[in-house]
Amino acid sequence: MSGLSINAVTKRFGDFTAVDDVTLAVPHGTFVCLLGPSGCGKTTLLRMIAGLEEPSAGSIALDGVNMTALPTHKRDLGMVFQSLALFPHLTVGQNIAYALRIRGASKEAQRKRVDELLAMIHLPGFANRPVTQLSGGQRQRVAIARALALSPKLFLLDEPLSALDAKLREAMQVELRQLQQRLGVTTIVVTHDQREAMTMADLVVVMGKGRILQAASPIEIYRKPADAFVADFIGITNLLPAELDSAGRVTVLGAAVADLSLPSGMAKASVSIRPEDIRLTAPRQGTLDGTVTFVRDLGGTIETFVEAGGATITAVATPRERPQVQVGQTVGVLLPAESCVVVKA
Ligand code: ATP
Repeated sequence: MSGLSINAVTKRFGDFTAVDDVTLAVPHGTFVCLLGPSGCGKTTLLRMIAGLEEPSAGSIALDGVNMTALPTHKRDLGMVFQSLALFPHLTVGQNIAYALRIRGASKEAQRKRVDELLAMIHLPGFANRPVTQLSGGQRQRVAIARALALSPKLFLLDEPLSALDAKLREAMQVELRQLQQRLGVTTIVVTHDQREAMTMADLVVVMGKGRILQAASPIEIYRKPADAFVADFIGITNLLPAELDSAGRVTVLGAAVADLSLPSGMAKASVSIRPEDIRLTAPRQGTLDGTVTFVRDLGGTIETFVEAGGATITAVATPRERPQVQVGQTVGVLLPAESCVVVKA
């Protein structure tokens, strides 16, 4: 296969298993985000792809060539880490040209490539600046250019944007994605930020306890989470208990939801429903009634918290569809069956 194949890779540190039997096929040109909570094994998996950590079992291949035993410098990859590690005593141009110089590229070839890369990262004319005089975002771009100087087949980044403030970080996510699409380079980014993953990735790989819980497109992960953990980790969701009543109907918080079914053999489950899919209605017009406990008006969206059936349900509306509700009011909460995703409890 053209691209990266990770085959049954496991990494143990003593008797602790950090990465547990991970298999993943990444087609050439794909942007992958490894996403998950702290300690789930994302960085360890990335380090094995980079050759900085040796798998305890399994193999890793690039374009059909097994590279499990290859040292990092023979893997045809570029890397950016959280700490960036730019050389502080070198200029921007010298930093970017570093790998070219080591490889013995001519001065002219180095200058040409540096100019190309500076144009690519929107910093033309920066070659002679000391890196110590750059802003955080500029430094980030230089680290990216340096990693791409040799046009690697594989581009690996570990939390590359985490040191930036929120606004710059969001802008850089878009920039990084656009750059990757222009170059078509297979890219793997470790992040614990689901919004970042949704912005950039073709393929989001959600990990938990060393294992892959789901690998799919961002929208599929959002709309069809594989389990309650993934549903809760990606975006905001309402996870509500669902049961079968004596008549065989599915009930959520004790209220029957028409047209909803549980997978056979599953008597208890959770239903994940996104706040934007919930409608507030007049009392007795929805699936169940509840009491409004809080309204959070964030300008662009309005969140309404409703206490219903022993749970707090969050509904989100846009200002245009602003629900006319007040704290203390009884409302109906409509759970459309087509928006309910049944997940294992
Ligand atoms: P974070 O987002 O916090 O960086 P992560 O998902 O990247 O987390 P890893 O850094 O891959 O997680 O670590 C996974 C687990 O393996 C953690 O429990 C960590 O303590 C453990 N671990 C990582 N490297 C080593 C090591 N060299 N020796 C022992 N344990 C390690």
